[in-house]
Amino acid sequence: MTKLYGAIEAGGTKFVCAVADENLNIVERVSIPTTVPEETMSDVFKFFEKHEVQAIGIASFGPIDVNRKSSTYGYLTNTPKPGWKNYDFLGEMKKRFDVPYAWTTDVNGAAYGELKKGAALGKDSCVYLTVGTGIGGGVVINGKVIEGYGHPEIGHIIMRRHPEDKYEGKCPFHHDCLEGLAAGPAIEARQGGVKAYDIPKDDKAWEIVAYYLAQACVDLTLTLSPEKIIFGGGVSKQEQLFPMIRESFKKQMNDYVPTPDLDDYIVHVELGDDAGITGCFLLAMEAE
Ligand code: ADP
Ligand code: ZN
Repeated sequence: MTKLYGAIEAGGTKFVCAVADENLNIVERVSIPTTVPEETMSDVFKFFEKHEVQAIGIASFGPIDVNRKSSTYGYLTNTPKPGWKNYDFLGEMKKRFDVPYAWTTDVNGAAYGELKKGAALGKDSCVYLTVGTGIGGGVVINGKVIEGYGHPEIGHIIMRRHPEDKYEGKCPFHHDCLEGLAAGPAIEARQGGVKAYDIPKDDKAWEIVAYYLAQACVDLTLTLSPEKIIFGGGVSKQEQLFPMIRESFKKQMNDYVPTPDLDDYIVHVELGDDAGITGCFLLAMEAE
């Protein structure tokens, strides 16, 4: 009999739930708006009541508790999203479906999907960075997603400022961290509210963004030494950023450590919107 697996990519805007067989052929996939837990989760439960799955992989927006020693393991923690703060996501799933679970961040899920089926296929390590409304980073090293006391929060690493950047930064916690300087809303605020996709491709704004993203790549290279750094999210649709990030990376790294050829090292996501759900299925299969 065909074994089925479940996947939930839980985002701040929508939850994607899917069921697939062991070859990743999708049996059913739905998108559920993220409103309040009572509403959204009720639809999630209904979806999984229709399918008998061996295991479920969940990759969730956060912050989430991934520390197995913690009494709130499986909870969403400090999210500003109304109703979701301290919600016992994993616990509520387990109450209804008694199967093995994989539980990690949305970006770790995407990183894992890209490693096994996407841009980092054949590698053992990668970092996945999404640059959109916020910046989030997932890390896989030696084939395992990285979690420790908590999970990586690469979007909030502290930045050395671009010498010509006078923008104060948008992060409510740190002002000028990576997300505060280079996520979509920061890019738009720096330009006085011009939509990011309306900023001309040769505008100085992109050089500044590339400088910060390159700086993050330098820090990630120095700390983790991954085989690939993969960019996704709305801002990464600005293809002109990639050569600029590579060039700035080269300058900032100043040949200190060897890296793969930069054209193969700093790359665009390959699975696009399917990275997260793919990662969830693969993690579910391993959790079984
Ligand atoms: P989310 O992060 O909410 O999941 P996105 O990754 O699409 O969704 O991020 C939305 C942000 O990305 C917006 O703030 C916008 O500034 C920026 N963005 C979306 N599309 C583009 C684009 N084509 N070019 C530049 N920036 C974009
Ligand atoms: Zn921050």
